[in-house]
Amino acid sequence: TPSLSQDLQRFAAEGIDVVRVTYPDLIGTERARDILLDHLPSACDHGLAFCRAVYHTSPQGDVVPVSGGLDAGLPDITVRPDLDTLISLPWEPGVASCLADVTDPATGLPAPESPRDLLRTVVARCAEHGLRPVVGPELEYFLCAEDPAARSGWKRYSGATGVVYTAGLRADGDNHLLRTLRLLQAMNIGVTSGNHEFDGGQFEINLTHSDALSAADRAFRFKSAIKELARREGKLATFMAKPFNDAGGSGFHLHLSCGNDEGGNVFDGPAEPYGLSATARHAVAGILAHAPALAALANPTVNSYKRFGPDTLAPWLVDWGLDNRSAMVRIPPERGAGARFELRQGDASANPYLLIAGTLAAALLGVLTGKEPPAPLEGYGYDTAKAAVLPMDLPAALDALEADTELTDVLGKDFTASFLAYKRNEVERFHRHVTDWEFTEYADHL
Ligand code: GLU
Ligand code: MG
Ligand code: MG
Repeated sequence: TPSLSQDLQRFAAEGIDVVRVTYPDLIGTERARDILLDHLPSACDHGLAFCRAVYHTSPQGDVVPVSGGLDAGLPDITVRPDLDTLISLPWEPGVASCLADVTDPATGLPAPESPRDLLRTVVARCAEHGLRPVVGPELEYFLCAEDPAARSGWKRYSGATGVVYTAGLRADGDNHLLRTLRLLQAMNIGVTSGNHEFDGGQFEINLTHSDALSAADRAFRFKSAIKELARREGKLATFMAKPFNDAGGSGFHLHLSCGNDEGGNVFDGPAEPYGLSATARHAVAGILAHAPALAALANPTVNSYKRFGPDTLAPWLVDWGLDNRSAMVRIPPERGAGARFELRQGDASANPYLLIAGTLAAALLGVLTGKEPPAPLEGYGYDTAKAAVLPMDLPAALDALEADTELTDVLGKDFTASFLAYKRNEVERFHRHVTDWEFTEYADHL
């Protein structure tokens, strides 16, 4: 096509000779292939063939039996670059990165386990009801340095000396944060700020708010970039929910408001209870009602549930509060254009597309059924007498997702089946694995 050849000339003139085509798989792992620029037109016309399988991420990289993969003899999926998402990677001269969409070549339709398409579907459902979600992601992560003495081979960067809401060399010995912020800015994915978090080696970086797909794309690229940049310096960045026993976990907070055609914020309700519109209150109620099922997407690993607990600032109870960080859904103090809620449930290991899709689906269901939330939490939370507890492990969350047919109707049967199959396989692998804790607890004592 003429526009593609113009693009190619422009990319070549910018010194780009390789395009890294990447897509999020079902669990949010970045799958990628580097394509020489000359071959981009053919990749756009025909798509790239990848194997239709979901691999788990252990060193063996085994295939997990989800429907349409192993049982069908590992057929192809077609991965097509979305050239609108092309950005150059400031730390890898000559390389541009491009997101891709995944289709099933047998039908030509989006693959049901493609997270980008799942999010598009949910956003379209919101649009049918006049709702245009605006999403702002905040992600925390730990940076680790090599430590031959540690069993994992890694220890927290800067030890345990970091202090929350600080920046500069005292918290961050070689200016990791500053360097990273500038590279992310050069990558143009809309980051605003960053600071050292509560625990040594833990950082938070905030992204600008935008429409839901762009927010998910940018959060996905953000996670990849942080990991890649750490690796370039011989370090490891992890978005695991709770990587260390002696430190808190990493959250993936989502800010959500909702635009209308006039450019206003439909969550604002100056004359209504709490200054929130009925739509906002129903959305909050939907999140609370579907939170147990949402846990499967927001807290998707066996490790996720170790982040929760009293005094962690990671919500443990299903509640909401006005500017209350101990609540699962926090309503920040701003109103007007800034009227929004912050869902604090998700942890950093969540696939951004699935976390956002699940959150929007739950909020939409609340709006459609006109649910009202209970009275907001007063004071410091964590009192189990006041609110229900989230599922406390992954199997319980997966069961809650399966049981929540209202939510899975929005997410789709095929997606839900693949996701549950993958995650139940993960649980099974975990249960068969002998951990360090077991040896310490039992070896010499029983
Ligand atoms: N690290 C906490 C979490 O896991 C959040 C701390 C904060 O409020 O920034 O959600
Ligand atoms: Mg934080
Ligand atoms: Mg936050």
